[in-house]
Amino acid sequence: MLKLVYAPDPILKKECSPIPQVDDHHRELISEMYDVMYEANGVGLAAPQVGIDMRIFILDSGAREEEKKPLTMINPILISIEDDLTPYEEGCLSFPEHFAEIDRPDKLTIEYLDEKNEKQILSTDGFTSRIIQHELDHLNGILFVDHLSRLKRDVIIRKMKKFKKEQNTK
Ligand code: ZN
Repeated sequence: MLKLVYAPDPILKKECSPIPQVDDHHRELISEMYDVMYEANGVGLAAPQVGIDMRIFILDSGAREEEKKPLTMINPILISIEDDLTPYEEGCLSFPEHFAEIDRPDKLTIEYLDEKNEKQILSTDGFTSRIIQHELDHLNGILFVDHLSRLKRDVIIRKMKKFKKEQNTK
């Protein structure tokens, strides 16, 4: 069973490796990632957050609603993104209980492989675009706190170190 990796951790700062070909091994991993994400009540999860160095992330903008909308992206490449920034409060499964307002663009177009190893292109905005940008950052070793001022980031990292220490002594 996969386990969530909490920050700070070296795997979360790594640029992840692309997948040459999507096979059953990856599909099984992805299915387990969905279990972890829904269990943790998240809307997105990247492979490094479960300790795996692969360019895979999953998201579900309807995770907290009746109708599920699972979306898997493998080897994603951003094709275009608008310039205008919009603020939005973000959280992260690797930073339980921490939230911060982050400015990001809204509309984007992204190319990726789906679970059948087929190339897909998606243009989107709003919540889905926000999750995609957050998860794509994960594959490049960038965390949402990296978009904050150093002061704010240091406060959250210090609290996370304390949280991890407490977890280990349980
Ligand atoms: Zn995250």
